[in-house]
Amino acid sequence: MAVQYASIIIDISHENVDRVFQYRIPDSLLSQVQVGTQVCVPFGSGNRQRTGYVVDITDRADYDESRIKEVAEVIPESVTADSRLIRLAWWMKERYGSTMNQALKTVLPVRRRVRARNREVVRSLVLEEGVSGDVPEENVAEPPVSLNREQAAVAEMFRSDYDRGIHMPVLIHGITGSGKTEVYMAMIDHVLSQGRQAIVLIPEIALTYQTVMRFYKRFGSRICVMHSRLSAGERYDQFERARRGETDIMIGARSALFAPFANLGLIIIDEEHEGAYKSEGTPRYHAREVAEELARIHEAQLILGSATPSLEAYSRARAGIYRLYRLTGRAGGGSLAQTEVVDLREEMKQGNKSIFSLRLQQLIRERLDKGEQTMLFMNRRGYENFVSCRNCGEAVKCPHCDVSMTLHNRNRLVCHYCGHTIPLPKHCPSCGSAYLAGFGTGTQKIEELTRQMFPQARILRMDLDTTSRKGGHETILSAFARGDADILIGTQMIVKGHDFSRVTLVGILAADTSLYAPDYRCGERTFQLPGPAAGRAGRSQRPGIAVIQTYMPEHYCIRTAAKQDYEEFYRQEMGFRRLMAYPPDCHMLEILMTGKDEELLNHMMDQVYQSVNKNFQGAIQLIGPVPAAVYKVNDIYRKILYMKQRNYDILIRIQTYIQDRWDETEACRKLNIQYDFS
Ligand code: ADP
Ligand code: ZN
Ligand code: ZN
Repeated sequence: MAVQYASIIIDISHENVDRVFQYRIPDSLLSQVQVGTQVCVPFGSGNRQRTGYVVDITDRADYDESRIKEVAEVIPESVTADSRLIRLAWWMKERYGSTMNQALKTVLPVRRRVRARNREVVRSLVLEEGVSGDVPEENVAEPPVSLNREQAAVAEMFRSDYDRGIHMPVLIHGITGSGKTEVYMAMIDHVLSQGRQAIVLIPEIALTYQTVMRFYKRFGSRICVMHSRLSAGERYDQFERARRGETDIMIGARSALFAPFANLGLIIIDEEHEGAYKSEGTPRYHAREVAEELARIHEAQLILGSATPSLEAYSRARAGIYRLYRLTGRAGGGSLAQTEVVDLREEMKQGNKSIFSLRLQQLIRERLDKGEQTMLFMNRRGYENFVSCRNCGEAVKCPHCDVSMTLHNRNRLVCHYCGHTIPLPKHCPSCGSAYLAGFGTGTQKIEELTRQMFPQARILRMDLDTTSRKGGHETILSAFARGDADILIGTQMIVKGHDFSRVTLVGILAADTSLYAPDYRCGERTFQLPGPAAGRAGRSQRPGIAVIQTYMPEHYCIRTAAKQDYEEFYRQEMGFRRLMAYPPDCHMLEILMTGKDEELLNHMMDQVYQSVNKNFQGAIQLIGPVPAAVYKVNDIYRKILYMKQRNYDILIRIQTYIQDRWDETEACRKLNIQYDFS
């Protein structure tokens, strides 16, 4: 057998971690050393004994053979939660092209201790969200509901695979209200009964008191909650609880993935299609991909759930990489809302210039008469989207960013990228004319128009502006759930994760605003838009109606959304992705370069383009460099270069090639470079 070498990270609390050191594995230790094992090695010129983690094993020496030292010993039973996370960090570094340091910072929480008992953390969620109910005393475990036939079948298949050690990822495609959460809880039960632990990811926006309470009532103090509003100390404390085995279930947003459980058996990702599962930091990881790797490392089961699966997940299911289960009925009773599409061009022809179609007006009036509730959805906050001059046509732009400013409260302009705020100017900044007019209705204006049209209605508005206060979110939602208002107006945050039994009408006022977003996923987002909203209306026995207002009723995203026909949507959207070579048909590497010096930025971006073009000619499709969708943010310029290739490994090779050269340039101190794989 060839000589084997281990790449080792020296104990992270002492050394500069961004470098791995190669050691020879002596024959006597060959069977014991694996990725993740903790070992003792001689280190530095004095050959002091240090501990380190094995992150990679190869049969190739990267240095002069005579300079490579030997692993001294293996620390017994050293494959721990931490060593597994370090192995995961290594994988993330390789896959997303970050440094090891950045990857480690992502998977290992900052060590800052603040004690907060579990019940207090759940309670903090209650207090902060302004809910009047109290946390029940511990161990209030509620008996599970009995699963219906479809649910039971999925749970049974899961148990049977799990017990046979088959760990193929599973995608549960289940309509809203089909009882996915109950199925998750049955799966968690099974895994817990075998002494293993579970991680449940829920998008931050849906991580509400209501959601957490469902798990709390079932599993009591065995759950831990992790959300972004916890302080670093509180987060660290939650992780410590997992490390010490004081908890079995970690529920939270993306970062809950890194809970250091000793014997992780199950990872659930609810609403797997949510954009929030992609990290904005470095490494720009996707929780679904990381969870797949983490499940492999732990030999755990990965469950993805969605009513509108991402194209990535669904194509993997169709290719047999994931197992696909379906839930097609409404578990809690009630029927799916009926969906109507209103063609706004026809409204215009009939002389209706209002934001409410005649049909929607009629339906809202009926709801007000019957004492039922309505939700109105508008994907844009503020009063008007932008203000422009009727004389010269210029829109008022943020001086620091390359975007137009949004009108708020009819009197000030706010930049949604940097927060810069100015009073609404009386004259056009470009030509001085007094004819400034607003365009593009936002939620504030919708509220005003709704009050005008339905003066008797009690109205609440929910968007980033009304929820920025701690707890604002839950205060509005619980007031609405109690019936304190007839109409709730809001951005996408109103359509997630809440159960409003009195809502029988959902109006999507301008479905097209998301269709025109500068992003190849905009079709997917448009299709997803009415999904949860339609499921929301009429969750109880009352039949609900969802109304989609659009100028493009014939667009396949709108047509399929109206029919809630996911299969047809998938077929058409996949056709589009194939045609354009977009993910998941192709892999894409997006290089974002940013900096204050526009000239240098342009120059360096061209250099990157040319060297990639020269050295990888024919191997990839290069697009750009182009200005980012918003070219300037906070006085920093942004340019993008796209690369497409079916083979992910080639993209990684290119990224490594770029980064190696980048580190040697002068410019790297003045410009920033970021990699985004998809
Ligand atoms: P999903 O997560 O798929 O949207 P939920 O798990 O939230 O669905 O279930 C929707 C509603 O149906 C909830 O109120 C839940 O309590 C109820 N429910 C789920 N399963 C059952 C069941 N087997 N029997 C009765 N009610 C159920
Ligand atoms: Zn700005
Ligand atoms: Zn002007």
